[in-house]
Amino acid sequence: MNACPCCRPTGLGRRSFLGAAALASLAAGPLATPARAATPAAGPRMAPDQALAKLMAGHARYLAGAPVPVAHGAEARAARAAGQAPFAAILGCADSRAAPELLFNTGLGELFVVRNAGNVADTGAVGSLEYAVANLGVSLIMVLGHERCGAADAAVAAARARLSLPPQLSDMLQPIIPSALAALRAGGDVLDGTIRANIARSAARLVEVSPVLSAASTAGRLRIVGARYDLDDEGVTLMS
Ligand SMILES: [Zn+2]
Repeated sequence: MNACPCCRPTGLGRRSFLGAAALASLAAGPLATPARAATPAAGPRMAPDQALAKLMAGHARYLAGAPVPVAHGAEARAARAAGQAPFAAILGCADSRAAPELLFNTGLGELFVVRNAGNVADTGAVGSLEYAVANLGVSLIMVLGHERCGAADAAVAAARARLSLPPQLSDMLQPIIPSALAALRAGGDVLDGTIRANIARSAARLVEVSPVLSAASTAGRLRIVGARYDLDDEGVTLMS
């Protein structure tokens, strides 16, 4: 993880920003196991259920038409420049209609957002979320899929027939294919079934592949939830 100054958590110096465990892991080289970087540098700032309640309260404000709460002025700028303390992380789709900061009526510095086409838990997403949990004290991760997802639609098409796709696009769709195949077997609304299955799959994968996230979840420091954003009524609904 680069020591990007924009990622420095509030109130922590450069050394503690990376965390002693992370520094040790970096020093140990690429063979260091993820578990060696698992020791959080800071505990969560907010209980997981509290973070979820705060997130959904923000969504209620969005639905009610509240203005975007971005503070301006020298004082607000100085506070943001000093560091970040997001209360939740979102793994969302890159779709231009599904911007988490807007949907949850949050200002700059409140959400740690990772987006890619299809909200898949790929290496970059998992590593970024590990950083949010271990170094920023984030206690809630929401995997946010959405209605009529183009990536899920492409995965359904790829599951139905061999497609000629650019290699990178083909690779990107691979994690969604099992969800598409399951939805095809189940019948009904295949696209929405794929979207829902993919949300659940990404959420499950976070703890399957990451000792950092798994340990935090087991210890009760982290909650991972799936949610679906409906483009028609703009509602974000939590999935079981
Ligand atoms: Zn999408």
